[in-house]
Amino acid sequence: MTHQHSDHNADYGNLIWLAWTAVLRSRIDTWGPPPLRRMTKLFFQMNQYDIAARTANEGRVPLPPLVHVHESRAGGEVMGDELVRVTSVLVDHPPVVPAFAYRFDGPARSIAISGDTTPSVNLVKLANGADVLVHSAMYPGAIDRLVARVPNAEKLKASILARQTSAEQTGRIAQDAGVKVLVLSTLCRRTTHKLRIRCGSMQPAYTSEER
Ligand SMILES: [Zn+2]
Repeated sequence: MTHQHSDHNADYGNLIWLAWTAVLRSRIDTWGPPPLRRMTKLFFQMNQYDIAARTANEGRVPLPPLVHVHESRAGGEVMGDELVRVTSVLVDHPPVVPAFAYRFDGPARSIAISGDTTPSVNLVKLANGADVLVHSAMYPGAIDRLVARVPNAEKLKASILARQTSAEQTGRIAQDAGVKVLVLSTLCRRTTHKLRIRCGSMQPAYTSEER
């Protein structure tokens, strides 16, 4: 988990719970910022009735002991095995602290994900030379339409602008990091627009339509 915003953590417990109702019987390790341990404990408490019923009646292994939580407040080595090595850095996503970006190095390729962040020097270092960088991005021109229907529009707009990276800025970040492919995520929706991003050593420029 990169950070504790609802659009990034809402399915955390459900993902594990529903996997268990399907086929999961083996250990699960989770990594992320506090209060991940408390969230996990409270999620199991909230769903204790179903978990107890299924354990007793369907021959399932108890779910809570399968889940091992690793809370972190600082970047560094996350985990590693024969398939992948995972590292992280702190990024800037005020007021949410800590917020992490992760890098996954496997035998075939390397992928860095930004989480949500403003332009981050730490992220550029983390993603250095990666095959793929998945970066969160906002399209500033779409924010007015995004917030137009909410009563807290002014404050919401200021908050988004203060804690995210624009799509155009991601091109420079990808160039500085020397990544081969840049993937944009979390674009502001409710609009149709075209992006033109100059990415230096990647394609000279490309145009992408939001979907
Ligand atoms: Zn966020």
